[in-house]
Amino acid sequence: MSCGNPHQVPCVKVLSLMWVYLDDEIDGEPRHEVVHHLEECPPCADNFEAERIIRTRIRQTRVTTSTPEGLRTRIVTQIQSAIRD
Ligand SMILES: [Zn+2]
Ligand SMILES: [Zn+2]
Repeated sequence: MSCGNPHQVPCVKVLSLMWVYLDDEIDGEPRHEVVHHLEECPPCADNFEAERIIRTRIRQTRVTTSTPEGLRTRIVTQIQSAIRD
């Protein structure tokens, strides 16, 4: 999970803020910490980007009444293999 670089803000804290960040419900210093961290930590930036894509896709595919548990896993797998390619 870590890129090996030293960070002022630990990866786990940034990842714990991912949801509020993506929901645009974070501001001020915490937001700055996240943005700064993502600039220097590619693994976390990848995580954020993948999560952002998943959320967009889920919003787009919310045509059916329910989102099957397997759908999210499938999308995550697709994106993870796409990132690796
Ligand atoms: Zn890192
Ligand atoms: Zn990180």
